[in-house]
Amino acid sequence: MLNSDTSWTPHSAVVPRQLATASWATSPAVRRVMQGNTSRDTKPEIAVRSAVHALGMRYRVSVRPLRDLRRTADLVFRNARVAVFVDGCFWHGCPEHHAPPKANASYWATKVQSNRDRDKDTTQRLREKGWTVLRFWSHEEPLSVATQIANVVATNVRVGKPAARRIKSCQ
Ligand SMILES: [Zn+2]
Repeated sequence: MLNSDTSWTPHSAVVPRQLATASWATSPAVRRVMQGNTSRDTKPEIAVRSAVHALGMRYRVSVRPLRDLRRTADLVFRNARVAVFVDGCFWHGCPEHHAPPKANASYWATKVQSNRDRDKDTTQRLREKGWTVLRFWSHEEPLSVATQIANVVATNVRVGKPAARRIKSCQ
């Protein structure tokens, strides 16, 4: 079972950049919220990776699709020019599951909104360079996500997207 809560042992603790720099995260309550959401957000990503891997596909994990753009995608299929993001329901404001904590409500609202703005910007910048961007919520069923990824990657490879749609750099 891919999404069973007990079958996952993360390879390493994945700490969002926000945690590393957030000096205000000193209150135990805030820290508990962040830690809880950190583990919730990383498990689905690992489940998706495993499902994609099980379909026989190979990809890079947490790398920049574009060298000169400081944004990393969760799964990168360089040959097919497909960048996949598994957005955590909490950090990215999933309409079904995001419930802002009562404490520091305005901080969280701003934080989530800035994540969403950044997501949109990342998607746009990658698309401008000829990449296909796929975004999924972390609550989505891993096998279904993996199948959608596999279809898009296969299509891009088939139509020769990298060569056909290479966009000249403006720089
Ligand atoms: Zn959700």
